[in-house]
Amino acid sequence: MSSRKLRVRQAQTVVPFGVGAVFDVQGESFVAAGIADWPSPRNLEPIHAPRLERKLKVTGLWAPLQAPVADYDVPDASGPAFIRFPAWLFCGSCRRMTHWRIQDEKFGHPPYCAFCSPRHKLTPMRFVQICEAGHLGDVDWWYWAHSQLTPEERDRCPGSTALSFEAGENATGLEALTVRCRHEECAAAQRDLLDILGTQKMRCCGRNPWERFSERKDCGEQIQIVQRTAGNVYYPVVHSALDIPAPAAPVVADDEATRRIREHPYFGMLCQSPDAPGADGLIVLIAEVTEADPSLVKRLVEEETGRAASPEAAPTGEGPDLSRGEWAAFTATKPARSAHFVTREVNLGSSRELPWTELEARIARVVVAERIREVRALQGFSRVSPEGRMIPVDPSGRRRWLPAIEVFGEGIFLTLNEELLRQWEALPQVRTRTAGMQADLAKSFQRDRIEAFAGPRLLPRLPLLHTLGHLLVRQLSFESGYSAASLRERVYARSVEGDDHQYGLLVYTASGDAEGTLGGLARQGEPDLLPELLLRLLEQAAWCSADPLCSEHGGQGYGNLNRAACHACALIPETSCEVGNILLDRVMVVGGSGVPGFFEPVVQSAREEAAHRVGAW
Ligand SMILES: [Zn+2]
Ligand SMILES: [Zn+2]
Ligand SMILES: [Zn+2]
Ligand SMILES: [Zn+2]
Ligand SMILES: [Zn+2]
Repeated sequence: MSSRKLRVRQAQTVVPFGVGAVFDVQGESFVAAGIADWPSPRNLEPIHAPRLERKLKVTGLWAPLQAPVADYDVPDASGPAFIRFPAWLFCGSCRRMTHWRIQDEKFGHPPYCAFCSPRHKLTPMRFVQICEAGHLGDVDWWYWAHSQLTPEERDRCPGSTALSFEAGENATGLEALTVRCRHEECAAAQRDLLDILGTQKMRCCGRNPWERFSERKDCGEQIQIVQRTAGNVYYPVVHSALDIPAPAAPVVADDEATRRIREHPYFGMLCQSPDAPGADGLIVLIAEVTEADPSLVKRLVEEETGRAASPEAAPTGEGPDLSRGEWAAFTATKPARSAHFVTREVNLGSSRELPWTELEARIARVVVAERIREVRALQGFSRVSPEGRMIPVDPSGRRRWLPAIEVFGEGIFLTLNEELLRQWEALPQVRTRTAGMQADLAKSFQRDRIEAFAGPRLLPRLPLLHTLGHLLVRQLSFESGYSAASLRERVYARSVEGDDHQYGLLVYTASGDAEGTLGGLARQGEPDLLPELLLRLLEQAAWCSADPLCSEHGGQGYGNLNRAACHACALIPETSCEVGNILLDRVMVVGGSGVPGFFEPVVQSAREEAAHRVGAW
């Protein structure tokens, strides 16, 4: 018997192998158990992310120690717990089915067949049952095999120990597969799997595989039988935050007093040694001379020395919308240089020629993030659909911490010219198109989640910037060898009270346990590369291989919330998108269907220039 090593990397313990997920490793199938079955936080690694902890109202974020080992290799491994699931397995040789129990496990070895040969490894059954309340269980194969019998005939069966999973010789598809009871009493007990997928009139088990029988709920939901690898088995609810520097202490005083304090001969001295024994005396002295409040002097010293209150201590007033703090950090006038957030503004260039002048007019700022740290925390999951009931990572609700991981990376942040943006948003065709999306949004099941992304009111800039972000991810993956799945977006286009709306976007890569950054993505933000990248992106966005269908679509994708955007032109992997590939529209970017696109003059002038050059020959 061969010994095997099952490995799940720390970075995978939130996604894709987070609590509740079903996954295959080397031909065996497991489900990740709730955090009640994890080691206590004493044996875990703390993940520091105060903004995220405040938002989620949790006592802490924890990650498994490096290289967690499934309990199936080493007893008492200090990693997250995994349960073998489905428990129903079959032998590819003798076709007998086995209902596996925990006491059957042998550390370091996969399950083997007890009926024919201890060399034959067992294979997990391909089908499982789920319900809208988030439950997951084995299919009741005994019931399935006997389901076409009368209740009296069923009662004659001695039990579920003699099932086999048989495959027809010549047929293909589900009708070729049959579950059969081999007991003598049950000669007619067999049924093929032709109708197995979909809703079934079987009872929901009312729990997840790691929960004890006593923890099951009375569940009235209809069950659905699906393949265990189907997409609707698991929708993780993940929250993420960037590690931004502490916000500078807000100095809200009249500029005259501030200037007088800064110009006072002792102010520089005070800033050089703010902890010296005489510092408090100096503060009082400066305050007296400049007729200012001592607290203002103190705050200005803190600002000058970079000792503004830490984010843990300072109530940032950020609330649950973490985009505000990030937006402020990226748009700060000074470049940031904290341990986990290093940014640098780059100049797009100052061309005198078309189409570059048109492009530069529309992009206000480009900020290269040379280093960012992102923390991702898993709150829970749902099954059947993303709107299904969320099962928290601890269904009992006793544990108030969440599993989390930290990843490091780099990115490109850009903002649009706000003045031109406002002018474009005021155009009646643009407003009408956005109003149509807003109306579809109001009908959507996911309204709350989408509003957290878009703000209370959908602004035209949101589909514009969101689509631009997707196009940028796609272009970078075509041209620079990034897999689209390794890139992520963050759209800053929310409507904010008081008209102080956001108008930018971040495309970044943050992957795995790697401490170092690659340097490649930040390089793409430099002035010798980015303008050309953007121009090629815009030129390609004008056309989709599914056109004219795609361009003229009145509503496609989830909840009809996309317009001109499909798999061929604007969608990206689900894990890369902030909001599930919705609210996308190429028309907002490059124009079409009688609606002027924000970047349409760029594409147009590029075409004219190209025609001009050909003409000049
Ligand atoms: Zn066998
Ligand atoms: Zn039977
Ligand atoms: Zn249920
Ligand atoms: Zn398309
Ligand atoms: Zn997206």
